[in-house]
Amino acid sequence: KNQPPTLAALAKAVHAGYADRELMVLEGDRVTYDGWFRAVAALAAKLAEAGIGKGDRVAMAMRNLPEWPVAFFAIASLGAIAVPLNAWWTGAELAYGLTDSGARLLICDGERWQRIAPLAEGIPTLQAAWVARVGATELAGIARAFEDAVGPVAGYGDLPPGELPAVDIAPDDDATIFYTSGTTGAPKGALGTHRNILTCSLANAFSIHRSHLRRGETPPQTTPRVTLLVIPLFHVTACNAVLMGTLATGSKLVLMRKWDPLVALGLIERERINNAGGVPTIAWQILEHPERARFDLSSLETIAYGGAPSAPELVRRVHGDLNAAPNNGWGMTETSATVTHHGAEDYLHRPDSCGPPLPVSDLRIMAPDGRTELPVGQVGELWVSGPQVVKGYWRNPEATAATFVDGWVRTGDLARLDDEGFCTIVDRAKDIVIRGGENIYSTEVENVLYAHPAVTDAALIGLPHRTLGEEPGAVVHLAPGEQATEAELQDWVRERLAPFKVPVRIVFAHDTLPRNANGKILKTELRPFFEPFRSGV
Ligand code: ATP
Ligand code: MG
Repeated sequence: KNQPPTLAALAKAVHAGYADRELMVLEGDRVTYDGWFRAVAALAAKLAEAGIGKGDRVAMAMRNLPEWPVAFFAIASLGAIAVPLNAWWTGAELAYGLTDSGARLLICDGERWQRIAPLAEGIPTLQAAWVARVGATELAGIARAFEDAVGPVAGYGDLPPGELPAVDIAPDDDATIFYTSGTTGAPKGALGTHRNILTCSLANAFSIHRSHLRRGETPPQTTPRVTLLVIPLFHVTACNAVLMGTLATGSKLVLMRKWDPLVALGLIERERINNAGGVPTIAWQILEHPERARFDLSSLETIAYGGAPSAPELVRRVHGDLNAAPNNGWGMTETSATVTHHGAEDYLHRPDSCGPPLPVSDLRIMAPDGRTELPVGQVGELWVSGPQVVKGYWRNPEATAATFVDGWVRTGDLARLDDEGFCTIVDRAKDIVIRGGENIYSTEVENVLYAHPAVTDAALIGLPHRTLGEEPGAVVHLAPGEQATEAELQDWVRERLAPFKVPVRIVFAHDTLPRNANGKILKTELRPFFEPFRSGV
């Protein structure tokens, strides 16, 4: 029978192709493709028994546990809509996600259940919660153990072979609601289809493969690859690019309960990891770890990241210090994951670019009027179209109408294209600092600060000024043991950029800068760093 392209079809195909290979490793647990597929089938049957069917929302809130990809595919194989909630959210924020999505069921871990349990009764649609790794949490009311449905992870391989339920699912049926990161406002639920995810992930896997072939100094890598997954699965990049790309190529994911650079270094050595990264800050923490030299990192082939601006300096450091190929990808929740990507030689030669579009994506740079397309080299708003762009925001017609226009998504990012189609993001429109009418792209100044040997973290924001409107101010964090003064850093910028771009204040943070779960600096939280200087404004 003809099998339409859906997540269920992908699950069946990769199971048939790679059954005996390892798919996931977390601490002592190792799960094969076959074990995963048996667990997916068992859980899907239990969900169907519980009355979950097409179009029902099933929320998920967990750490990066092996149960996550099991739950995700079980939900999707029923034609239900998976709603991955941000595991960093507080109880009230989780309640918002559950209420907004109208979830009937929640699949979560013990920690998340502890947060949401006191509020669960007040969520009108929520009928049940299945809790994995319950721990000390008492299950009461609507909750029961997830393990009742499929058993513990260690036993997945012993489950009876199962089939996915026979449900008619069309490629353009809704599959997921992923929430945006909430960097610029309240998180919005992006409603994605099976086709959105499949095209995005396969085009991304293609682009990664192509960039390997272009890597000059080592032979093309072979699959299966081993990827250290450190970014959260509730974000599109981890689920739709990394997890799906792993499945599509029969590769392996090494999971971490929690990000810890020292643990990561040990895992790279022990599991012979080929690819790590996720977001730029993770790459920096691997590079700058004082104990890095103790570990054998020779298996690393790529350090791939995206999701936030990264300094050209990082490209040189990954290549030079780790002998790995840096990869950068740009995408947003509304585009299901990656839209542009490059690595190896392409990226080394254009370290400020996030690459050309995937072969399924189309880019435009638009003037502020929203009608005129700008020529090569000019900065304007990046618009994206292609089969990975989602239909719109869940139950939010106003935001949908403002962002999705004739098949294009207005990204809110300012960018330019070069004559070979490589895209460079210059700033988020909301982060640009306008000093007396002069535009200062925050990433340009941040990149110069990053290039200073003492600086490991930097962010530029606008400080209010009576007559100029705004002036640039920077917050930096220095590498352990490094020293630099405000005046030295200002001179460093002055030697490299026009005078109006030099931050009038540079303050030092004791720690790395505040970021959200997706590795993005929360610029709205940086203002207090400048409080002592407010009086002069
Ligand atoms: P919200 O839309 O809720 O304010 P958000 O835009 O941060 O949050 P995401 O969809 O997770 O939510 O992130 C998409 C944004 O991340 C892009 O619009 C862009 O600003 C930034 N981004 C993603 N990849 C890159 C990259 N490679 N380089 C620079 N910026 C990137
Ligand atoms: Mg956004």
